[in-house]
Amino acid sequence: MSKAGSITHAKSIAAFERATQVIPGGVNSPVRAFRSVGGQPVFIASGAGAHVRDIDGNEYLDYVLSWGPLILGHAYPAVVEAVSRAAANGASFGAPTEAETELAEMLIGLVPGAEMVRLVSSGTEATMTALRLARAATGRDRIVKFSGCYHGHADMLLVQAGSGVATLGLPDSPGVPAGATANTLVATYNDLASVEELFARFGREIAAIIVEPVAGNMGLVPPVPGFLDGLRDITSRHGALLIFDEVLCGFRAGPRGAAALYGIEPDLVTLGKVIGGGLPLAAYAGKREIMQQVAPAGPMYQAGTLSGNPLAVAAGIETLRAIGEPGVFEALEQATARLIAGFAEAASDAGIPVQTARVGSLFGMFFADRPVHSWDDAANADTDRFGHWFQAMLAQGIYLAPSQFETGFLSTAHTSVDIDRTLEAARSAMRQIG
Ligand code: PMP
Repeated sequence: MSKAGSITHAKSIAAFERATQVIPGGVNSPVRAFRSVGGQPVFIASGAGAHVRDIDGNEYLDYVLSWGPLILGHAYPAVVEAVSRAAANGASFGAPTEAETELAEMLIGLVPGAEMVRLVSSGTEATMTALRLARAATGRDRIVKFSGCYHGHADMLLVQAGSGVATLGLPDSPGVPAGATANTLVATYNDLASVEELFARFGREIAAIIVEPVAGNMGLVPPVPGFLDGLRDITSRHGALLIFDEVLCGFRAGPRGAAALYGIEPDLVTLGKVIGGGLPLAAYAGKREIMQQVAPAGPMYQAGTLSGNPLAVAAGIETLRAIGEPGVFEALEQATARLIAGFAEAASDAGIPVQTARVGSLFGMFFADRPVHSWDDAANADTDRFGHWFQAMLAQGIYLAPSQFETGFLSTAHTSVDIDRTLEAARSAMRQIG
């Protein structure tokens, strides 16, 4: 239980100060720095089930879960055992192991359109390679992405969110040459007209659309009915490929991911997070004739020293096995529904306008008075109020993602008592910030 009211962060403050001397911004990935909510990050000592403990001894109920992977919670015994066994057996060989084939077979059995799989180590690698493959397979150079969708930090994907209809990509970060993004077109999420417009102009040059079928990097923004079907239709008509980036929403939107949930077969799919159970693992998968172009079966080059790492593969197999048990996903989904309904009710009681969303075990809440369907809608939400909400929850031992433009995650380790406690904290937090 958290020590609400008695939280001190003296050790975290000192640890952050030390880290900032040797690590840019004190963190190894920017959003961990709490920049958008004020304050500074807590340093984590350990996690167990639904809880994490910081180095000052404060405990939190964790709704970040390593940004999604830990669908079974922290240190799930079967995962710990499998990883320990794999570690004792040798951490890495750079040679094939049978477990890699087993994981590939599991993924193929679950994900529509996945006929062959290549394992990699991060979501960034997966999306970067899926796009290289789409370009190789079609002989075309242009790609379409959506403003507000994040697909990792490959140069070609670091493109400023376009406003309104189609926008030609401009680099979003210094260090990205204009040439790297010159073939990246940006459309508006949930707006098929913006996509049609790009295809009307560049249709014969577009290799692929890459999309988060459930957007989770501008807050949680589900696809409106017909949006994903429309993308499937447009790409098929123009001979382009449809890539579902399910790094975040795979095995979270539904027990078999978003493609299965919405009944759409993409040409390629990227996976990450849950499939590695908290260890560095991701994948791209797709139709056999496309995947056969990947080296050494075909000419498109991609490689990795630690690809298919035995520890990560062991964690992934145990995680997929556990969430595939009958009733597990349904219970997780129901718990998530209760949580987000409780947030909405707490906000309503305090007279605070919010927009809530849930897909499977993903949840999101915007402090906004209008529905959120795109990045422009999301960007209008009240980030100051979100910062107060975040801090009020943290002070009560509830650890939410430190940005309004992130998604919340639940695990099977969160009990109904945990959710009751979270909702009690939410009612108090909403009253404080109202
Ligand atoms: N795609 C999506 C949809 C993501 O959410 C992320 C990371 N949050 C990535 C790709 C990149 O994955 P990674 O951080 O493992 O490189």
